[in-house]
Amino acid sequence: MIKGISDFSAGRVVATIALLIAAFLALDASYTGALAVQAQSGDGKLRIIAFGAHPDDCELQVGGTAAMWAAKGHHVRLVSVTNGDIGHWREAGGPLALRRKKEVEEASRILGSSVTVIDNHDGELMPTLENRYKIIRLIRQWKADLVLSPRPNDYHPDHRYTGILVQDAAYMVTVPFICPDEPPLKNNPVFMYYTDRFMKPNPSAPDIAVSIDSVIDKKLDALAVMESQFLEGGANGHDGLMPKNAQERTRRVKEVRDGHGSRNLNVANRFRDVLKEWYGNDAAAKVRYAEAFEICEYGRRPDKQELKKLFPFF
Ligand SMILES: [Zn+2]
Repeated sequence: MIKGISDFSAGRVVATIALLIAAFLALDASYTGALAVQAQSGDGKLRIIAFGAHPDDCELQVGGTAAMWAAKGHHVRLVSVTNGDIGHWREAGGPLALRRKKEVEEASRILGSSVTVIDNHDGELMPTLENRYKIIRLIRQWKADLVLSPRPNDYHPDHRYTGILVQDAAYMVTVPFICPDEPPLKNNPVFMYYTDRFMKPNPSAPDIAVSIDSVIDKKLDALAVMESQFLEGGANGHDGLMPKNAQERTRRVKEVRDGHGSRNLNVANRFRDVLKEWYGNDAAAKVRYAEAFEICEYGRRPDKQELKKLFPFF
């Protein structure tokens, strides 16, 4: 009987403490976000890890924002989940993989990020358990606050499966006994998708759009060093694209640069309403180039306050 009363009292104390904690968290909605962002990082800086299927996808999708994070001292890692070894119309295999690795290393040097290329064959990526383990370990080793990836609906199977693999790592990065050799993260990071043009089953619906006007030249410089992909046309290129003299080269370099610029112009125009939410109407109207990101439901769900901490540009 006495034991029963004592258990009852202890239960009430625990319940009261739980209610007080819940009330405190409800009073300050940004608290959980602030705690989570601080907790993963030892030096007070953000840790961002971006995944792409091929050595150029991260740079295309988040190269501008990566340069902006890096300029503020935040840590950005760009990961290619395949080595890109069939991504050219004339060459393939090990030498192409090495060439592409050098290209992304040079691009990251320009952007201020760092780079990892996983040695999976291009065009053959599968959402295997082994690859899921690799992604989980990379996210844990990076102690990521924010993880970026393509959506799992995309024209290219490697892009689709990169999206699946990263989604499948969300939450699992916090579970201790999967990949127990690599300590789990205390907090599930925020996972976000890049934008794309695919409409089915649903179109991109970004939660945040970032003006990259201040770093557009840096982004275009970084993309320019990936000559195998852009100047030479990558897997669908042809001999006709190859400059035969200095004049043709100048023309082709400008053509590639303009193409990349207009891609980011299109993102700004397509998601002008999202830009307005973050910059206000007047400033948003002036944004020329943008990158945009959509929250994945399987990571931590940030409120606007936490998104502002993860994207400290507003
Ligand atoms: Zn790709």
